[in-house]
Amino acid sequence: IMSTHSETVLSIYQQIVDRNPGENEFHQALYEVLETLSPVLEKQPEYAKNKIIERLCEPERQIIFRVPWEDDNGEIQINRGYRIGFNSALGPYKGGLRFHPSVKIGTMKFLAFEQTFKNALTGLPIGSGKGGSDFDPKGKSDNEVMRFCQSFMTALYRHLGENTDVPAGDIGVGSREIGYLFGQYKRITQRYESGVITGKSPQWGGTWIRHKATGYGAVFFCEEMVRAVHNEELKDKVAVVSGSGNVATYAMEKLRVIGAKVIACSDSSGVIIDRNGIDVDTVIHIKEVERARIKTYLDFHHDAEYIDGGNIWDIPCDIALPCATQNELQQADAITLAKNGCIAVCEGANMPSTPDAIKVFQQKGIAFGPGKAANAGGVASSALEMQHNATHGSGFEYSEERLHEIMNHIHRDCCDTAEEFGEPHNYVLGANIAGFRRVANAMLAFGII
Ligand code: GLU
Repeated sequence: IMSTHSETVLSIYQQIVDRNPGENEFHQALYEVLETLSPVLEKQPEYAKNKIIERLCEPERQIIFRVPWEDDNGEIQINRGYRIGFNSALGPYKGGLRFHPSVKIGTMKFLAFEQTFKNALTGLPIGSGKGGSDFDPKGKSDNEVMRFCQSFMTALYRHLGENTDVPAGDIGVGSREIGYLFGQYKRITQRYESGVITGKSPQWGGTWIRHKATGYGAVFFCEEMVRAVHNEELKDKVAVVSGSGNVATYAMEKLRVIGAKVIACSDSSGVIIDRNGIDVDTVIHIKEVERARIKTYLDFHHDAEYIDGGNIWDIPCDIALPCATQNELQQADAITLAKNGCIAVCEGANMPSTPDAIKVFQQKGIAFGPGKAANAGGVASSALEMQHNATHGSGFEYSEERLHEIMNHIHRDCCDTAEEFGEPHNYVLGANIAGFRRVANAMLAFGII
C-alpha cells in the first residue's frame, strides 16, 4: 500500500528521469533521496504545495565549456569542462572539481545534487555545486597539468566569485591543481580574491586542516555512529579503507590514532594488505610525491601483500570505510562484509555504496553512514576557510576541535531526525530529511525563484 505522498514523489522522480535521459548516476542519487522524503511531505504540506522538490531537483545553472590545451609534444588536446550551480538557497555555490576520464554531465549532477544536502547538513552558509572535466591527470607532466588548469580557469573564471561560486578539489584535484587554478584566476581578474577557491595551501590563504578534514571527519562520524548503534568503540577494531587519495589517507591516519587497526587500502589497480597496519606516511609519499601506483608500497614494506585487481571488501574487517569512488561497493560486497562480521560502514567517498548494498546493510543491522553526512567535514572546513578569507587574515581560529564539533553535530542531527520519523539509526533517512528541510525552508522564504 502506497501513500499518496510516495506516489507524488515517485511521479516527480519519473518526470526528472524522462527529462534527463542517460544520466544514470544522477538518477541513482535522486532516487536514494526522494525515496525517503514522503514522510516530510506528509508532515509539512507547504513543501508539496510550493513544488519544493521539483524546484530543488532542477539545477539553477549548468555550464559546459571547451578546454583546449597543448600537450608536451605540441599536440592540441580538447577536453570538456563543467560547472553546475545546483542550489544557492543557503549560500554561494560550493563544491569541488573532479578531473577524471569518467566524468560526464550525469556525474557532475549527481555530485552537485548530493552536495546540496551535505552542505545544508554542515549548518554553514554554503549552497551547492560541482564541476570538473574528463581530463585524465594520470601520466600527465606537471606542465601539462598547469596548462590544462589555466585553460580550464580561463573559461570558468567569469562564473566564479567569493559570493557566487566557490570551487575546491575532488578526485584528481589536489593542492597542486588548486594552486594553478587560483594563480590563473588571480592573473585574469587582477584580484587577490582568496575566498574564490578553497583547499588552498596554508602558505597562501588556506588552512592546514582542509586536506585532512574529509578523512578525519568521516572517522569522527563513524566513531559516534558505532557508539550510538552498537555501544562500541573503534579502539582495537580491524578496519579496511578503500582508496589511497586524500580522503582515504587521513581516514587511515585518524583511525590509527584512535587505536583501530587499518590493514588494507587500495587504488584502481589493486589492494595492499599490511597486517602490521598500513603505514600512512608511505601512502602519502607514493601518492603525493611519486604520484605512483599503490603497488609501490611493497618497495617500502616487504612483508605487505599486494593483490592485483583484488577486491578490498573480501578482506574480513569490523569497520569498512569506502573512500574511493561512486558505486565501488556493491550488493555482493555488502553480503561478504556482513558474513565476515562487519559492524559498520561509513562513506568517505560520494555514493560509494549501491542502493542494493545499502539495503543489505539495513537488513543485517550494519550501521551505515551515508557520504553526504559522513564526508561533510571536507566542505565544512572549506566553509571555514571562506570565512577566514573574508576577514582578510585576522582572527582566524580553527582547530581539529571545531571539525570534531561539526561532525558530532551532523551525527546528532541525523540521529534525531531519524528518530523523529520513527526510524532510529536510519542515517540515510535522517541525513536526507535534515538536509532537505534546511534548504526547503530557505526556498519557501524566498518565494518562487
Ligand atoms: N569535493 C568535496 C566533497 O565532495 C567538497 C569540496 C569543497 O570543499 O567544496 O564534499
